[in-house]
Amino acid sequence: MPFTDSHCHIDFTEFQDDLTRILADCYQKNILTIIAPAVAPKYWQRLLDLCAMPSQCKLYPCLGIHPWYLTGLNEQDLLRLAEHAIEHLENIVAIGEIGLDGVIAKQQDNLKQQLDFFEFQLYLANQVQKPVIIHHRRSHNELIEQLKKVPVEHGGVIHGFSGSFQQASNYIDMGFKLGIGGTITYPRAEKTIKAVARLPLSALVLETDAPAMPIAGEQGKYNSPLRLPNIFHALCQIRTESPELIEHTIEENVKQLFFPM
Ligand SMILES: [Zn+2]
Repeated sequence: MPFTDSHCHIDFTEFQDDLTRILADCYQKNILTIIAPAVAPKYWQRLLDLCAMPSQCKLYPCLGIHPWYLTGLNEQDLLRLAEHAIEHLENIVAIGEIGLDGVIAKQQDNLKQQLDFFEFQLYLANQVQKPVIIHHRRSHNELIEQLKKVPVEHGGVIHGFSGSFQQASNYIDMGFKLGIGGTITYPRAEKTIKAVARLPLSALVLETDAPAMPIAGEQGKYNSPLRLPNIFHALCQIRTESPELIEHTIEENVKQLFFPM
């Protein structure tokens, strides 16, 4: 059965020297699809070019502006995003990575800018009929508030989900899937593990967030899309369904969200 890494920053320089080998190894491990979110305007073209290269492991780009990369950006960058999204509509599978980061908001005092950028990108996703990929950190309340203001019309992923069953259920009710990543490989992530055990399988997708979010035992190293099977095995241990059913359902979830017929 094929796997999809629904969130991997394969365009980051950490992978540059080794990319051909990594993608060949992904193919060997049956990781046949990688969804690659964008983070900042200056990297959009590199990401689009990379995803256009022939590869057995298929790379699909997204376009967006991540809340960590807002310094020096303004409305013009949002307008450029809209132009780029329309120009590359056939290739991109989502608007992302977008979102709200409570830690950065405090450090950089930029909550207002984060909210403005997030809101614009939610509207844009609805306009171009794409799902969104959402980053969150200490921001569940603000996120829910924004998402009530601008409900997504084509779904999305709450990427790197960590939180309670109730928080997860709120997102599912709003049309989201939850990106399940390396967090569940850490036994101390009890609240998230308990939530993931109970959530409907139809709401889950797998992701590595590589090169970020190393799995348990690999702290301090770069993460890799090749760790996706480790996350899948951790998920299988948490869930009661068979691995076959889990894998099948999760791939269907990916198709439904990113590759609707
Ligand atoms: Zn990311």
